[in-house]
Amino acid sequence: MTGRLFIIAGCSGVGKGTILKMFLEKNPDVKFSISATTRNPREGEKDGVNYFFISEDEFQKAIENKEFLEWAEFSGNFYGTKKSFVEKTLAKGIDLILEIEVQGAKQVKEKMPDAVSIFIMPPSIEELEKRLRGRHTEDEATIQKRLKQVERELEASKTFDYIIVNDNLEKALTQFQNIYDERKE
Ligand code: 5GP
Repeated sequence: MTGRLFIIAGCSGVGKGTILKMFLEKNPDVKFSISATTRNPREGEKDGVNYFFISEDEFQKAIENKEFLEWAEFSGNFYGTKKSFVEKTLAKGIDLILEIEVQGAKQVKEKMPDAVSIFIMPPSIEELEKRLRGRHTEDEATIQKRLKQVERELEASKTFDYIIVNDNLEKALTQFQNIYDERKE
């Protein structure tokens, strides 16, 4: 039996990274797809762990060679999911999570309609802005760019299979786990 594919999206600062980290600790058999990106690593991020940090030239070559299952430009940088990794992982019967933005999620859902898509929603825009500033990983211009995406992301969230409002981490994690378990049968 092939593995199941889960697509997780949500606005910057919504806490999807934290939910996913906790979920993966509890579910060690599930794999996470490490994306390629042209953005610079943040402090503490490691190549091959958080992302494969590559140049724009390398990214363009990978597009030309059709190496991506999906790719998108987000906030001035490119992000993409390697097709071969997804295919190999699912073929081995391993469940896989893609943490990607909404344009990429749409591409994957079109190509792989059985994928389960989950959108993590902020409790409010004000709270999102507070969290985004509070993590101190982006400068003001970057924060503004990311906030501009929010409207488009919230509109796109309507097409997702599930929406989880992250107003409480434990609750959001439980909901995530329930969706995962439900789709297990
Ligand atoms: P960040 O720069 O905060 O790590 O990520 C910015 C956005 O890019 C997030 O919404 C994240 O989910 C998304 N992202 C990360 N990897 C990929 C990918 O491979 N493809 C797409 N389409 N989006 C990605």
